[in-house]
Amino acid sequence: MSLLLRSVTVPSVDGTAPEVCDLRIDGERIVDRGQLALTDQDEVIDGSGYLVLPAPAEPHAHLDKALTADEVHNETGDLLGAIQAWITHRETLTVSNIAERATRAVKLGVSNGVTAFRTHVDLGSGIDLTGLQALQQVKADVAHLARVEIVGLIGCPLTGVAGAEHRAIIAEAIAAGLDVVGGVPHLDPDSAACTKILFDLAGEAGLPLDLHTDENLRPDSLDLEILADIVLDSGFDQSVTASHCVALGIQDEITQQRVAAKTATAGISVITLPQTNLFLQARDTPVAPPRGLTALMALRAAGVNVAGGADNLQDPFCTVGRGDPLETASLLVMAGHLTPTDAYDAVSNRARTVLGMSTVGAEVGSVADILMIRAASLREAVATASTNRIVIRAGRIVFRQTELL
Ligand SMILES: [Zn+2]
Repeated sequence: MSLLLRSVTVPSVDGTAPEVCDLRIDGERIVDRGQLALTDQDEVIDGSGYLVLPAPAEPHAHLDKALTADEVHNETGDLLGAIQAWITHRETLTVSNIAERATRAVKLGVSNGVTAFRTHVDLGSGIDLTGLQALQQVKADVAHLARVEIVGLIGCPLTGVAGAEHRAIIAEAIAAGLDVVGGVPHLDPDSAACTKILFDLAGEAGLPLDLHTDENLRPDSLDLEILADIVLDSGFDQSVTASHCVALGIQDEITQQRVAAKTATAGISVITLPQTNLFLQARDTPVAPPRGLTALMALRAAGVNVAGGADNLQDPFCTVGRGDPLETASLLVMAGHLTPTDAYDAVSNRARTVLGMSTVGAEVGSVADILMIRAASLREAVATASTNRIVIRAGRIVFRQTELL
């Protein structure tokens, strides 16, 4: 059987008029486009009034923490308050509790169009590999709905004598099948040494690296530049991603441009996470608080692959969030001043690039990872975030909103 999407709207990316056409999907791919004659092999979907978009990907989630906001209270509202509350709570968690919430979060994302997730998982004292075991189980259970990639988020300290336990735990997690090495150098007493340890671990294991980087508003926090220098010196052949990079947003323009150029040359992707960083950052700045976003314009101008993610979903790090990349895209328009087209690209094809996946579109030959959504234009889709959606992953429908009668 093939799937015939009848009379869908393909948005314009260059200012020309949107095109209304039919798309035929056979197997995993789009095989025909135009005004297509029905064959007896076709299952027809009426796409009138639906926009066809590349399916979003979520490049930075914390599925192990998701949906705990009513149980875990962040007393100060900032990052350290969230970490304190979470570290106490996580000791009580079990594989089944984490897996149940993570599965709900994945299904929420899929219903919004997400067909691939990269999630971080806490590794450290008090939780050990419990979260990893839970998310590996979820990854297998939801494989028919979405691809899930797991980043090991090792706690701090990682350096010095005090870091011995965490160094042992991350080594154990890599042996247990971690997909990506991660950590938080800016929380280590020696962030440069922490970055190098994580970089070397990824290199030895042949795994990609994705670090929480400069998630603060301190002008002396330039771990992104340290990371870029290490990558440029080494010829590392795995993908490298820096998440957050909040501090870069408050640097002067010359510094932003210098770091952005190195980041581009090193081939490092940057993930901006507007929900959580608007929530956590600048609570101690009552007048003209900065927005907590990275230097989006400088990074994009330098040619860095800048993707957008949601980060935390209704947990002490961000108590709200709909698990919807269109919410992220809308915030990138409002708080980051991207155009709706660029904002949507950040949560779809640029996010897929972070995950090492091919980009997708409505062209013949493209993998059929598609979000169909009720809207007349991409701008309207980002603005209204209609819940009337059909989600296709690798040519198969994985979500279809049931019509209200
Ligand atoms: Zn994060």
